[in-house]
Amino acid sequence: MEIHPFNPPIRTLMGPGPSDVHPRVLEALSRPTIGHLDPAFIGMMEEVKVLLQYAFQTDNELTLPVSAPGSAGMETCFVNLIEPGDKVIVCQNGVFGGRMRENVERCGGSAVMVENDWGRAVDPQRVEDALKANPDAQIVAFVHAETSTGAQSDAKSLVGLAHKHDCLTIVDAVTSLGGTPVKVDVWGIDAIYSGTQKCLSCVPGISPVSFNERAQEKIRNRRQKVQSWFMDLNLVMGYWGGGNKRAYHHTAPVNALYALHEALLILREEGLENAWKRHQRNHLALRAGLEAMGLTLIVPEAERLPQLNAVSIPEGIDDAKVRARLLNEYNLEIGAGLGALAGQVWRIGLMGHACRPENILLCVAALEAILADMGAEIKTGEALPAVQKALA
Ligand SMILES: *Cc1c(COP(=O)(O)O)cnc(C)c1O
Repeated sequence: MEIHPFNPPIRTLMGPGPSDVHPRVLEALSRPTIGHLDPAFIGMMEEVKVLLQYAFQTDNELTLPVSAPGSAGMETCFVNLIEPGDKVIVCQNGVFGGRMRENVERCGGSAVMVENDWGRAVDPQRVEDALKANPDAQIVAFVHAETSTGAQSDAKSLVGLAHKHDCLTIVDAVTSLGGTPVKVDVWGIDAIYSGTQKCLSCVPGISPVSFNERAQEKIRNRRQKVQSWFMDLNLVMGYWGGGNKRAYHHTAPVNALYALHEALLILREEGLENAWKRHQRNHLALRAGLEAMGLTLIVPEAERLPQLNAVSIPEGIDDAKVRARLLNEYNLEIGAGLGALAGQVWRIGLMGHACRPENILLCVAALEAILADMGAEIKTGEALPAVQKALA
């Protein structure tokens, strides 16, 4: 077999992540590798911490990038905060809530599931009912932005309910961070994890996490060791929290952290509030185009995520064929439905650097051309003017 250097095609990434990576971030990735205990690197890591605190809107000291993807950030929260026998209320309104349950059970905890319809926000009333029925619960876990359906839950209310019943909270903000408001300190979130490849538009493979004082106290007072050596925060803190006296724990992904530093700097230059507004404005433009074609978003308006739009697939249209044609003919990636919504929806992401007017125009025009060619019952000729009007 003859093997050549790999040159990936240039795509526009409008799926559920990874999203388009900013050229500045790709350039940062290619800077010279230095030692992960080099004073210059440690100085940069301090800046990454400050930038992450800004992105999460927190003063939490224990704010760091886990050296692995979002799923590892999820696992870091669960393995550190849950001990065998702990009861955890897990809210599920899509795929990722199911993974939280897996995590609880693998930590030896018991999960009390609060089930919600897919495509809807988590219902605070159901969470309150579960808290009342389970006064011995210690933690409430929920997904802020359900990437599998495009629904956004009211994190502030859910955290408030959990605290009223003396529970800590674990919040999945993988898709929300950088795209929609996430206010760790104001909302009182105890433990939170995110990912780099969604609205931060950085390369995949790193997971920012943050823990407040109450969460740290629970970790310090554990009856038994965290079963994962790699994710045990008591050990990781020796490296991250040691100031200039950092001890070796594992080799940090040096270049990927340059990339994260650059991505977070771009976010700070734009300003969080401006980034949130940009996602909302572009979401409304995409929606105007899709609706002008006659397509519908599955999530009720008040619960929609701007950065992830789940669209019903028109009757009789082959889901996979449309996505393949978008990729082959337009170099455009959108996402398939996941779990219970497989085959029923497309997931169009507007995340981070990918969330730009030109991408909306490309996506709407390409989708219209392909659907019309395949004989779908859509209105043609109205989508692009609708997008332009919404952007004006
Ligand atoms: C993408 C995603 C994850 C998992 O992140 P990976 O980086 O793929 O491990 C977890 N939760 C949500 C809500 C996500 O969208």
